[in-house]
Amino acid sequence: MEKGKIETMRLEIESLSKNEEFARVVVAVFMSRLDPTLEEIDDVKTAVSEAVTNAVIHGYENGNGIIAVEAEAQEDGRILTVRIADRGTGIKDVKKAMEPMYTSDPSGERSGMGFSFMEAFMDEVEVESEPGKGTVVTMKKRIGG
Ligand code: ATP
Ligand code: MG
Repeated sequence: MEKGKIETMRLEIESLSKNEEFARVVVAVFMSRLDPTLEEIDDVKTAVSEAVTNAVIHGYENGNGIIAVEAEAQEDGRILTVRIADRGTGIKDVKKAMEPMYTSDPSGERSGMGFSFMEAFMDEVEVESEPGKGTVVTMKKRIGG
């Protein structure tokens, strides 16, 4: 990748759990231009997975919808930015939703650790959300030390 250049990609997928794998592989291939380690690729794939899963289950409540996956690579500082956006239910209290082990799922199947994983595997996680409008999760990671 050329010095100083910013390269971007945008993918729109249907809200289906079978598309989660697709989203994270596309982001993994995109980030390869920043010359990542295998560990960095795995970290980003995990974070993308958690965010897309949340959009599918919580955002669209397993119904129909479109999820946008955007990524940006910046050669200066080798920063990867990934954005996952849905136009689903949105989150009333983002601070609470991001607390470790908080889940709105009553079934007992979910552990409420999705946002904690995103924060553990990425350097920065920012969540913008409005009830009824949707959610945008923006994550950044420095690649290559
Ligand atoms: P786990 O990820 O461990 O399976 P979880 O999805 O409940 O459980 P988090 O991923 O940390 O845990 O999310 C916490 C809560 O934030 C969810 O239970 C849900 O209420 C809310 N949430 C997260 N993402 C979205 C989204 N895209 N749209 C609406 N609500 C969301
Ligand atoms: Mg989750």
